[in-house]
Parts: sequence; C-alpha cells; structure tokens
Amino acid sequence: MNQVSDRILNMASSATIAMSQKSSELRAKGIDIINLSVGEPDFHTPDHIKRAAKQAIDDNFTYYPPVPGYLSLRQAVCAKLLKENGLSYSPDQIVCSNGAKQSVCNAVLALLNSGDEAIIPAPYWVSYTEMVKLAEGVPVVVPTDIESGFKLTAAQLRAAITPRTRLLILCSPCNPTGALYSAEELRRLVEVLADYPQIFVISDEIYEHISYSDAPVSIASFDGMLERTAVVNGVSKSYAMTGWRLGWLAAPLWLAKACSKLQGQYTSASSSIAQKAAEAAYLGSQQCVVDMREEFRNRRDLIVELVRQVPGFELAVPPQGAFYVFPKCDSLYGKTFDGVKITDSSSLAMYLLEHAHVAAVAGSAFGDDRFLRFSYATSEQNIIEAFKRIRQALAKS
Ligand code: PMP
Ligand code: GLU
Repeated sequence: MNQVSDRILNMASSATIAMSQKSSELRAKGIDIINLSVGEPDFHTPDHIKRAAKQAIDDNFTYYPPVPGYLSLRQAVCAKLLKENGLSYSPDQIVCSNGAKQSVCNAVLALLNSGDEAIIPAPYWVSYTEMVKLAEGVPVVVPTDIESGFKLTAAQLRAAITPRTRLLILCSPCNPTGALYSAEELRRLVEVLADYPQIFVISDEIYEHISYSDAPVSIASFDGMLERTAVVNGVSKSYAMTGWRLGWLAAPLWLAKACSKLQGQYTSASSSIAQKAAEAAYLGSQQCVVDMREEFRNRRDLIVELVRQVPGFELAVPPQGAFYVFPKCDSLYGKTFDGVKITDSSSLAMYLLEHAHVAAVAGSAFGDDRFLRFSYATSEQNIIEAFKRIRQALAKS
C-alpha cells in the first residue's frame, strides 16, 4: 500500500540538492563544511529589488496573479529579450514559473509524448534526464569531451537523431562545464536542425549573465529557430535571487499556451511578491549584474589556478561561463587515501566531504563519472581554504 508510483521510483534524486542538504546537516552538527556543491550565488539580493518586494506587499500585490505572470513582468521580460538578445516576443508568449527549473519541466511535459526522444549533451544539468523520464520520454544522452570543449558538434547531433527525436536540450553557458557555444558552433547545429523540422529546442540560458568572454548568443536568434525554441531564463543566478523562485520561458504562442494550461492545473502563478521583485530586477539598473559577474570572474581565475595545483585534478579548459569548475579526477580512482579506496566520482566526493569537509558534486550526476563539480559561488577565502583542505586530504596515504 505504501508504495509510490513507478514515476517516482524511477526518478533519481537531485544530486546537487542532496549534497547541499548533506552539508547543511553536517554543519548543524557543528562540522565546519565548506559547501562548493550547490550552484547558488552567495551575494544578497540587491537592495532595490528587495525594496520593490516590500512595496509590493504594501501595495497589496497579495492576490492570485494571472497564471503566466503579471502583464507588467511579462512586458519587462519582453523588453529584456529584445534589448539583450535581439529576440522579439509579445507578452502572451512569456510564461513565468516557480524558477527556471519549472519552466524547463513545463516545456518538456508540454512537448513530449510517451516514447519521444530528447537529445541531451553530457555533461548535463542533473534535472534534464529526470524531467524527460517524468514526461515518459527517452533521454538520449550524447557524451561530449574535453577536445570539443564539452560542446555538442553538428556531426554528433546528426548521428543522435532518429525518427522519434522530438527535442534537443541545450544549456549555454553550461552547468556543469562552463562551456559557452559560439555563434558559429550554434550555426552548425542549426544547419542540422534545418533538416529535421520536427525537433524542438529548449535553450536553457539561466547563466546568460555569468559569461566571461563573449556575450552568449541564443539559438533562438537564428533564422527559423524562434518558432521552434523555448528560451528559458530567470532571476536566480543573474540577480542572486535563488530563494525567490522566479523563472520564465519565452516560446511560440502554442507552446506558451500549453505551459500556462499545465501550470493552471498544477501550481498556478508564481508568487506575486517574487514577480514584482523580478520586474524591478529587469527594469532597474543592471550594474549589480556587472558587479557580480566581475566578482565571479575573479573567483573563476582563482579556482582554476587552485584546481590545477591539486595532483590528480585535470582542468584543460577554463570555464567560460556559469560558476562551476569541472575537473577530471579519474586518475585518482583505484588509489587509497587515509585508508579509503576511491573507486569513482561518488566515492571521491564522499571522501572529500568526510575527510576534507568540502562538499562537491560527483560527475556521475551530470552524466560523466570521470569528473567532480565544484561551485565557486562563494567567497575567495572559502575557495582558498577548501583547496588547501583538498590538497591535504589527497596527500594522506
Ligand atoms: N537550469 C540550470 C542549468 C541550472 O543550473 C539551474 C539551477 N538552479 C536551473 C535551470 C534552475 O534555476 P531556478 O529554478 O533557480 O530558476
Ligand atoms: N542549479 C543549481 C545547481 O546545479 C542549484 C540546484 C538545483 O536546482 O539543481 O547546483
């Protein structure tokens, strides 16, 4: 009787969240854990955004908002898309949700029928495969490697397509690798997609503003792609607003309507207060975004240097965006440290948690067991201390 559905039984728990919870539990026991597991900016939400939220409460924005979000917020999102991405949408093509996570899931559920295939380049963000499975779709994981900068090539895309392919999920800048697709790389993928009009693209652009070289290009900006792409974004990362739970999707009208319909039965609109805060984030000064990015850049430079000093960690390409490093660690597998044999990325992450008191996420959760993911959305002091501890823990025979 107390048996959950196969749907839930077959779903992996979110490794990013699990590791973060584990470090919180250890901290609560008084252990000084440095948490480099979850991807969450350590900055406070900027003051002008907080003020807008307080004002929203005083102005009685306390009733159910329209399911896809307040018109004023959707207008602000459209203005952002036009100004920053050159993409022209009308407010009825925008659906705001409880985070970009829900936006991706809405699109997956609205697009896939049972047995439809979704191409997911690996390393991938932990939730994509599970969302596809939730929709009874089939995740078709395409491994990428250091040589291609962890980017899906046109040849790999073409080879993965079958008559059942319905979806491609792209994430640029990428969690966990930090890879950023150039316009030319996207153009080559678009050329392949042009031969397969039945394939739709979810473009997860949540790390758009955390990019250290070129400004990211959206695949939706290529000829013929606006009609077959759902652009997903939100305020969690760009404006340090992870707890507010506000993301959105911009899509062709038929898909936006489908997502609203789904949300109307499932969660209704996202929080009214978070929506007014997000509106202020988009309409206000963007200096906070620039400042946080520059701070992330300094941390990126620092962590890349420190990772490269760890014997057994290999980081060929520095991340170009997001706030993660994803070193290759498999040369440590088979070795024993402090009496503990390391066999895979999970045992290495567990060893570092227990013996270095540093939380990282096993690469296996992202579809590649050879790696570990460290988030550098934390202070330079924490990063320096974490890598000091890691070096010490990996020097214990
Ligand atoms: N996409 C990616 C790639 C992410 O790393 C995250 C992290 N939370 C999300 C989507 C979801 O973001 P949120 O739900 O906080 O908006
Ligand atoms: N996206 C972040 C991460 O990858 C936050 C946790 C989550 O939503 O998975 O760590």
